[in-house]
Amino acid sequence: MKPHRPAIALLVAALLSASPHPVLAEPAPVAATSAAKAPRLIVAIAVDQFSSDLFAQYRSHFTGGLARLTQGAVFPAGYQSHAATETCPGHSTILTGAHPSRTGIIANTWFDLSLQRDKKAVYCAEDETTTAADPNDYVASANHLLVPTLGEWMKQSDPAARNIAVSGKDRGALMMGGHAIDQVYWWKGKGFTTLEGRQSGPTAIAENVGITATLASGSPEYALPVWCAGKDRAVQAGSQAIGTGRFALKPNDANGFRVSPRLDRATLDLALRLVAEQGLGNGKATDLLAVSLSASDYVGHAYGTEGTEMCIQMTQLDAALGDFFAALDARGIDYGVVLTADHGGSDLPERLHEQALPAAARASQGLTAEALSKRIGEKLGLHPKGPLLRSEGPAGDFYIDRTISAKQKRAVVAEFRRIASADPQVAAVFSSEELAAAKAPAGSPEIWSLLERARYSFHASRSGDLVVLLKRGVIAMPEAHPGYVATHGSPWDYDRRVPILFWRKDMVGFEQPNPVETVDIAPTLAAWIGLTVPAGAFDGRCLDLDAGPADSCKVAGQ
Ligand code: ZN
Repeated sequence: MKPHRPAIALLVAALLSASPHPVLAEPAPVAATSAAKAPRLIVAIAVDQFSSDLFAQYRSHFTGGLARLTQGAVFPAGYQSHAATETCPGHSTILTGAHPSRTGIIANTWFDLSLQRDKKAVYCAEDETTTAADPNDYVASANHLLVPTLGEWMKQSDPAARNIAVSGKDRGALMMGGHAIDQVYWWKGKGFTTLEGRQSGPTAIAENVGITATLASGSPEYALPVWCAGKDRAVQAGSQAIGTGRFALKPNDANGFRVSPRLDRATLDLALRLVAEQGLGNGKATDLLAVSLSASDYVGHAYGTEGTEMCIQMTQLDAALGDFFAALDARGIDYGVVLTADHGGSDLPERLHEQALPAAARASQGLTAEALSKRIGEKLGLHPKGPLLRSEGPAGDFYIDRTISAKQKRAVVAEFRRIASADPQVAAVFSSEELAAAKAPAGSPEIWSLLERARYSFHASRSGDLVVLLKRGVIAMPEAHPGYVATHGSPWDYDRRVPILFWRKDMVGFEQPNPVETVDIAPTLAAWIGLTVPAGAFDGRCLDLDAGPADSCKVAGQ
């Protein structure tokens, strides 16, 4: 079938419509070639906050699932190439093959000043058109995702294909699964839950029973691997000392369970139960199982990346993945794996300071929307009813109040730029006009300018009026709080660079250290399973997974 472009427009229009599963309602524009050698199951794993730096640091210690994946096609310098390196945008690139500028997922949270509700902040995976039973809660949804996922293309090609996603976070599961998703579960509160209006199946209920028992009894601390011993040193972050933790779980501490290796174990266990329940990998079509493992991110935020906590987490992640793959082997499934991350991360500034990075700092309170609103409002004599400026923190997108005049807005932009540009912590300030006019970058993502990086985080109707990027080493978190001491989200490579690992039984492995992108994953997987999609569906390119002269990107019949 000849690829044709209008299908994309149709799909996107359909996705924007109110129908809950619009992709399936459209005529199928995709065709699968007869791929006799295609894996029967694709397992797409995102390890939240698993930077290339962590991969390199712990690689020699992996003996389980991560060691297995390093025997496949290894791309140690994968790029979440956009600037706003947060969880929701990162997950949105992995199985859509599109940058956030096209997935529409520009951040975890953006602002929609036209919303009728008091709260103008929009969470990336909420359906704000639905009134939640609890006004402080939200209805989880993939509605904001503007392009189809690989699983949706697979289902459109062959409705027998199953598209299933499991995660420690709703946004992890929904951004990898998309709209037309057969089964989807994520952690909420004290166990796994699913979409509003759906019943949890017996597998999820069984998994939650086990979790409830662990929560009731608590669980002992993890042993410290010998190679973690050098990290066993306390560092002060705000009011608490961290760096020596071992994740002992007190009874009824659901938060302690979540911020520990136990969350990934439970997520993988649920994924396995779904493989068995749904017969994944044994159906008529290739199935897709997306698994987003959130614990590394929770551990990184709570304890940073260079203490015993992350060292134990990496060790346990490797072990849990090893058991997961062994269980898939035991089922005799021919499966292909890709493992990557939604973004990278770095350590907390307090420890970076002690470890040869004196430039590490927390962003100044003066860069928050509250402080800038006050300062600019007073200077220009502007005092709108709501905040003059809104943002999620001291960096990223800033939204200017809409009740002021166009002339006043121009004055705010000029004053904002003057103040932010003069700030020693600020690397760049861009207006929405500049970003809209910027050309899409080409070539290696490691050498793109900051404007080019920000260009792929820009969506005209969702982005702010101004975007602030902080200097390398400055984290957008003015204060450390218990459970939240470090963060990611910057345009710097410690937050953008992630490993991309492909593996299948009997595959001849190789390592390609040159930069590739996470938007390359979907086209690579599509070719692997012999799926063709309309031209223009992907921003990325297919990576040839064949180590020899053959080319896994050359799909038969094309
Ligand atoms: Zn994340």
